[in-house]
Amino acid sequence: MPTQKINKLLIGTNNIGKLREIKSLLPKNIEIHSTSEFNLKSPIESGKTFKENSRIKSQYFSKKTGLICLADDSGLEIDLLEKNPGIYSARWGGRHGDFNKAIKRVHKELSKKDKNWKNKKIRARFVCALSISYLDKKIACVQSKIEGSISVEPKGTNGFGYDPIFIPKGKRQTFGEMEPAKKYKMDHRYFAFKKLRKFL
Ligand code: IMP
Repeated sequence: MPTQKINKLLIGTNNIGKLREIKSLLPKNIEIHSTSEFNLKSPIESGKTFKENSRIKSQYFSKKTGLICLADDSGLEIDLLEKNPGIYSARWGGRHGDFNKAIKRVHKELSKKDKNWKNKKIRARFVCALSISYLDKKIACVQSKIEGSISVEPKGTNGFGYDPIFIPKGKRQTFGEMEPAKKYKMDHRYFAFKKLRKFL
């Protein structure tokens, strides 16, 4: 593994919400590139874990561009749904990434499992795996999470994905209601990034 810090990095995501958040977490001296500059589609996420999928993405984008690439694979695990949507979190939004649809599906699946779920605390967590690759080589692969619960109603318009229904443990607001700067300093991605500090 290289011990020197990375000074030029491709962020391997086509998700605008993630891109925005990752940019804000990276040190300002790093030259950042995004997949849109290269007009690249995302690879098929054929892995069975967040870590595997983040590695697939970082290697794919690195090989396409010749740049060191950081990729994120993340998602929402809901205990009552046997940890679904999990690695399928993006897919629950359908082909067009419609997160109203994904959120409706969460609520529908919860109702199927337990008619009384709205009166219970539905435990969930966001998980984030981050991989850094250079061509085929793995430079780093880490994972972190944040525990919380599912809100009965979607609340707030900030953030992306499942943010309007995720209430982090110990807070009252959903991520969708929080100022982005507040969310960015406490979520799964933030803690995964901390584990990459020696590279960035
Ligand atoms: P993927 O990592 O590209 O497979 O997509 C992960 C999906 O998980 C996103 O499209 C979101 O639906 C969801 N997700 C991951 N992180 C977050 C987050 O911080 N807030 C809300 N939703 C998230």
